[in-house]
Amino acid sequence: MSIVYGRRYDTGELCAIHIEHGLIQHVVPAWTTGRATDWPFVAPGLFDIQINGHSGIWYSHAGLTSNQVLQTLTAYFAHGVTRLCPTLITAGHDALAAGFAALREACEQVPWAGHMVPGFHLEGPFISPEDGPRGAHPLEHVRPADWDEFCQLQEIAGGRIKLVTLAPESPNAVAFIRRAVASGVVISIGHTAATRDQIQAAVDAGAALSTHLGNGAHGMMRRHPNYIWEQLGEPRLYASIIPDGHHLPASVVNAIVKTKTPYRTILTCDASGLAGCQSGFYELGSGRFELLPDGRIVIAGQQQLLAGSSLATDTCIASMIKMSGVSLRDAIDMATRTPARLLDQPQFRLQRGSRADLFLFRLPPDATRLDVVATIACGEVRYGSIAV
Ligand SMILES: [Zn+2]
Repeated sequence: MSIVYGRRYDTGELCAIHIEHGLIQHVVPAWTTGRATDWPFVAPGLFDIQINGHSGIWYSHAGLTSNQVLQTLTAYFAHGVTRLCPTLITAGHDALAAGFAALREACEQVPWAGHMVPGFHLEGPFISPEDGPRGAHPLEHVRPADWDEFCQLQEIAGGRIKLVTLAPESPNAVAFIRRAVASGVVISIGHTAATRDQIQAAVDAGAALSTHLGNGAHGMMRRHPNYIWEQLGEPRLYASIIPDGHHLPASVVNAIVKTKTPYRTILTCDASGLAGCQSGFYELGSGRFELLPDGRIVIAGQQQLLAGSSLATDTCIASMIKMSGVSLRDAIDMATRTPARLLDQPQFRLQRGSRADLFLFRLPPDATRLDVVATIACGEVRYGSIAV
């Protein structure tokens, strides 16, 4: 039996959480003779649906090994993350197959990795070939939606691909969406230049999410209708956003959260393989990039075109609060409960019977990131210390 003491992220009340056999056994009130605000906050472990790697390891790079995957997963405990979806972006079939094989091997190698990874995210290759919507995905590997190819990848992944981001205008997309949804895969709209009708057809077929809404888009577009408004105004779609302070201005973050509400807004960091790396220039397979001191990753030689984020989910929570004024509770829920609900996974809570995935953190005024004190996954301390 271990006991975690903290200040509930949702109510601010001090509590003692009793953990045994990987589960929360009791949550009882706690008292302090000091100041309640000296206690760290406690919240369910963060759940990020879009993570591309860490520490210089990219899931999409050739030669990925299961041990490298485990190294990245361990790194995310330091950010309060206890569940994440490793994400492979547009690549050739063999590269995707090798990537999914390594991810699967990691999940089957040690139980904690399997618990940390509820599913994989395939972002591409069935996306728009246009500059802008395509983002940093390599054009030569963009291709029409192909259900047979997906089934091969799903088999290699051991059935673990739970989320696919595609463009509704990709040839065969609507039939693909119907079959994927029927097989239990969640479909997200992203890296798209779709028309209103194409978006509606995708949603009618079962698409449920917009991937990093407001990014992966043309620099200039018609005022309306356009694919951002159409997704924003479609009540059946959840939206994921990257509130790292760089990908979206505060006004857009605000507009999306107000429209979708925290119930349908998912906070993701979309961290690249350069997360956790020092600032500087990096030569990667797809080009030369610069990681700027403020955490932005840009195509080397300019500072406008973003090529991913180096910041993790905890930083996005702090900047989300700063940008939009949402409560700590809502910001955390958008990175825990909402993604779990979308992917039909259990919503871990600070209550009896829940899996003991939680983290302790401090949030000083004007902090740019959460100061993570400890992370517990399945009842085990994976980062920091819970000693008081
Ligand atoms: Zn993307």
